[in-house]
Amino acid sequence: MSKKSLKYIFVAGGVMSGVGKGVAAASIGKILQARGYEVTALKIDPYVNVDAGTMNPTEHGEVFVLDDGTECDQDMGNYERFLGRDLTGANYMTTGSVYLSVIQKERNLEYDGKCVEVVPHIPLEVIERINRAAAKIRAEVVIVEIGGTVGEYQNILFLEAVRMLKLKKPGDVLLALVSYLPLLSKDGELKTKPTQYAVRSLNAAGLQPDIILARAAAPIDKKRKDKIAFNCNVREEDVISAPDIESIYEIPVNFEKDNLSGIILEKLGLKSKKKDMRRWMRLARSMRLSSRKIKIGIVGKYFGTGDFILADSYISVIEAIKHAAYAAGRKPEIEWLNAERLDIKKLKDYDGIIVPGGFGGRGVEGKISAIRYCREKKIPFLGLCYGMQLAVVEFARNVAKFKRAHTTEVNPQTPHPVIDLISDQKEILDKKRYGGSMRLGAYPAVLQKGTIAYSAYRQHLISERHRHRYEVNPVYIKKLEKGGLIFSGFSPDKKLMEIAELPKSVHPFFVGSQFHPEFKSRPLSPHSLFAEFVRVAIMRK
Ligand code: GLN
Repeated sequence: MSKKSLKYIFVAGGVMSGVGKGVAAASIGKILQARGYEVTALKIDPYVNVDAGTMNPTEHGEVFVLDDGTECDQDMGNYERFLGRDLTGANYMTTGSVYLSVIQKERNLEYDGKCVEVVPHIPLEVIERINRAAAKIRAEVVIVEIGGTVGEYQNILFLEAVRMLKLKKPGDVLLALVSYLPLLSKDGELKTKPTQYAVRSLNAAGLQPDIILARAAAPIDKKRKDKIAFNCNVREEDVISAPDIESIYEIPVNFEKDNLSGIILEKLGLKSKKKDMRRWMRLARSMRLSSRKIKIGIVGKYFGTGDFILADSYISVIEAIKHAAYAAGRKPEIEWLNAERLDIKKLKDYDGIIVPGGFGGRGVEGKISAIRYCREKKIPFLGLCYGMQLAVVEFARNVAKFKRAHTTEVNPQTPHPVIDLISDQKEILDKKRYGGSMRLGAYPAVLQKGTIAYSAYRQHLISERHRHRYEVNPVYIKKLEKGGLIFSGFSPDKKLMEIAELPKSVHPFFVGSQFHPEFKSRPLSPHSLFAEFVRVAIMRK
């Protein structure tokens, strides 16, 4: 039997960014998976940064972390959540990382004395990486999202990779354009012209989209479909309506209303297997129907450029809350509380408070007062990474009476450095080696029986993803425990504290994790800690 060839689906964006290209790519993955195909997904980011780790979240949204420690774009989180599968660094590349390996290969004489050129060598490296990622899990279909918007300078080499691959493997490569149709006024019509220009730009790059996903505030009508089809050289049925919807998890269901998986299988010459989207559809339905609310506040600081950016900075936290809330039959109402301008009394209006990850001194005292309020007023509290570290600081200051306790990240001169750098991190910072040098990715932790953590996980050994430099200072562990804090999770060698909590007799739910549980929450399997947090929050309501 001949080996079946790998099929490639590229997803590019037209007109403007921020219209949900990543979620569209993830949704295409989901519907093909539901048709019985082995699917993986890759993200290509056009920036020169080697990875997303050195960027501020207000620049490019949340930095997502994979099991293997890769610091990547938030869309990788969407892929994991939709496909329900763990990805690796092989599924992510940037202009910087591609150039870096081409240059390294050249230095190692791997190009046999040839002149190494931007074309074809950069696109060839891109193609090789896609093939490698697909081979890793023996994928039958690989979805590749090209960051940025067509027509801009940055992603042209990635489009060139698509062109080269299409030329070499006709029939195995499909290009989907996620394009935006503006609506000029409330009762105006959706405009197709920008999309026509986007397709012209693709044409100029030697490419013709096979499918156009028409993102818009509303579903597109027959007339608009015809117009796009006629002007952009596609069949009318290849124009898929992709209107705004309340929950991103409905998007695969919506795509199937236009038979997207059928169209893709036909175009790629793949057998049409039976559809099985039942669990996903049930999930989407329960999200639509749940009406009883649960109100969660996030005390954060990345308020940079408006709400859009803010939500992007904490996307995995938000999704993890949603997964847990919907599984408990509640509609989550998530609100932002600016740590720098906190009205502390307002915290009592929430069923639960989360202090997420973060860096640096800005907003820290606001977060610490929020944590104190939650502790004293017995409001369910979940601290994630920095949130856990600051909970330890708060406890040290106000309960264990180490008055000026702090993390040395904010106050290197504190008399009580309850959170401090571990030794190899000191060396890293001294050498100013900032990129990819935190404690990153999956590490095991042991849980202590009889604790909230244990009752949430019901497991002795867990594995969670990390992204931090600072740790609970070992010198203070015993002292804090004496004051009543429980370290319910720690590294197997007992050196690093992974979870801190208060006894149930003192507080219904006061838990902080040094790791980021949000990275492993999936819509069909909410994360244990978030689920327990939400459960207690509902119970107290
Ligand atoms: N700034 C803290 C550290 O580096 C926490 C990091 C985080 O919240 N991801 O340890």
